[in-house]
Amino acid sequence: MLSAITKSGVAHVLAKYTREEIHELRRQPFYCPACSEEVILKAGSKMIPHYAHKPRSECNVHDIGEGAYHEAGKWQLYEWLRLQGYHVELESYLPSIQQRPDLLLTIGKKRVAIEYQCCRISPEMIKFRTEGYKSEGIIPLWILGGNRLKRIHTNMLSLTSFEKNFFQQFKNIPQPLLLFYCSSTNQFARFSHPILLTNRKTIGRLSFFSKTSSTLSSILSPHKSVPPSYVYQAWLKEKKKFRKQIPGKIKNSTDFSWRQWLYLRRLHPSILPSLIHLPVPYAFLYDLPTYQWQAKIIIDEIEPQAIGQPFSLPVYPFNQPPDLKAPLLRTKPNPIQHYLGVLCEIGYLKKLKNGQYMKLMNLPTPKNAHEAMQQDEWVLKELLNRSLL
Ligand SMILES: [Zn+2]
Repeated sequence: MLSAITKSGVAHVLAKYTREEIHELRRQPFYCPACSEEVILKAGSKMIPHYAHKPRSECNVHDIGEGAYHEAGKWQLYEWLRLQGYHVELESYLPSIQQRPDLLLTIGKKRVAIEYQCCRISPEMIKFRTEGYKSEGIIPLWILGGNRLKRIHTNMLSLTSFEKNFFQQFKNIPQPLLLFYCSSTNQFARFSHPILLTNRKTIGRLSFFSKTSSTLSSILSPHKSVPPSYVYQAWLKEKKKFRKQIPGKIKNSTDFSWRQWLYLRRLHPSILPSLIHLPVPYAFLYDLPTYQWQAKIIIDEIEPQAIGQPFSLPVYPFNQPPDLKAPLLRTKPNPIQHYLGVLCEIGYLKKLKNGQYMKLMNLPTPKNAHEAMQQDEWVLKELLNRSLL
């Protein structure tokens, strides 16, 4: 941690002092504002000057595993906000919720808690901290360490289920977005309008901002989505890859149950109907490849229905609903409803007034991979022309 208090309760941020001044400060003890334990002053050459709890500390805001990268970034963000004229506090302790945000920003009557997250924490912890701030009327703002950003194309990132937890929404930006800050390059990255392509590959608008030429409000200003032609090209490429893929070793239990599901229906990815695996907003809320849950809806729920006969769909057409991710989102849209909407737009389904559906045609089933790829192209072009990408 960068800040600690003296016996009389005065906070000292070591990074503000020269080496000589720090040497002077060493003469007195410092304490953690959260647990009141005495802390150790550390001012070596590798890391930004900081304080550390003694080994075996039982402090509940004990900053375990937060290294030099995190501490430096926290200080840089503090300075960046201060220079913009904000009232900002570093690691201020909030006794009512026993939490200590990295930065606490006060803008008029509004308070914003900034968490700069570089190491892994559990989804429960993310939720717990977020709920804590909300209970105090504080807006949480999560910034991921730039070391977690894995760019694979102009507007495409590889996201693990951990990073997907950090999609957040703001009043002026309803589209889910991720923020990153790299303390080595002094750059921010913003990733928004996410469209899950595979379980990890995610299309989205990716923008970079240098710390010196950007402000908090410029980073959090409304912005455009990815051009639809980009989504079209990326999706078509992925579909081709999916059709041609030779199944290798079974990767995990999800992969195993998927293959078993295909086998029992005498299906193969190369000839799956083209209406399966379509871009749908909020698909990242499921920690499951898009084609898997879409295949189950089409093959198990819709195809057995007779054309022109009304039918109801269960809320979750699975034995077990997939986990809804993203603990920070204000709204929890249902990706399945979005998918059914797309199927209606494309003329396969019709939604009736009473909430039931009606199948309008039988699913075109490709005979081989070549035919499947032609159908993929046709479906994606339809989505592009109907502004559904
Ligand atoms: Zn402590």
